[in-house]
Amino acid sequence: MSEDRLMVDVANRAVPRLVMLGRQGSGKGEQSGRLAARLDIEHISTGALLRAAIRDATSLGSAAAEAVERGEPVSDGLVVGLVAERLAVATALGRGVVLDGFPRTAAQAERLAALAPATPIDLAIHLVVPRALAVSRIQSRRVCDSCGWSGRTARCGHCNRPTTRRADDWPAAIGRRMSEHDRQIGPLLDWFGARNALAVVDGVGAPDDVEDRVAEVVGRALEGAHQRSTATAV
Ligand code: AMP
Repeated sequence: MSEDRLMVDVANRAVPRLVMLGRQGSGKGEQSGRLAARLDIEHISTGALLRAAIRDATSLGSAAAEAVERGEPVSDGLVVGLVAERLAVATALGRGVVLDGFPRTAAQAERLAALAPATPIDLAIHLVVPRALAVSRIQSRRVCDSCGWSGRTARCGHCNRPTTRRADDWPAAIGRRMSEHDRQIGPLLDWFGARNALAVVDGVGAPDDVEDRVAEVVGRALEGAHQRSTATAV
């Protein structure tokens, strides 16, 4: 889909609310960032927010640090609070969002629905990448401790500082997160599927190609949402 077409859709429905689903290493962070830039909406990544809180040694960071570094989920209370705060700001500013890393379970999806009953999620995009490919991507992943940038180079693509491996990108933690994902994803897909708000996108290939696939399904969903809202208005 052309960028123009997507912009028309966005103009029609000014506040898109999207969710990016996918295993670790699926590229969901990268694709959420691209989608946020493309649609001019907020990118809310729970993993990035938790890593920033840990880096800044806030009380949230110290409560979450052990679980994050072990590759285990932090409590729903912590993560829902974090998302609620960010969603409230975006809503107050009339901004759309793409949630990345939340919800991770059907129970979290229920909490999300309760947080914003009047503004349901337009679409959850499931980026599908085979486990072996995701593991090999994670093994070459590097992050910037200063700004949270993630990529594959020894220097940050954003602020040019030296990059490091993520504290949870070590074999046991990677395995734990993959297994956790495999256990949770079925019920989560069922949850969004039952609400007619799910698109499955092949996450294998060059990031630009994956971005085009994502833009295509998002454009279609936003167009549908716009048609439903004008039909209701008439
Ligand atoms: P990610 O950057 O999405 O791989 O997340 C990194 C880590 O943050 C996870 O391994 C969890 O410890 C924590 N985390 C992020 N999002 C959630 C969530 N929705 N529920 C529980 N823990 C989360």
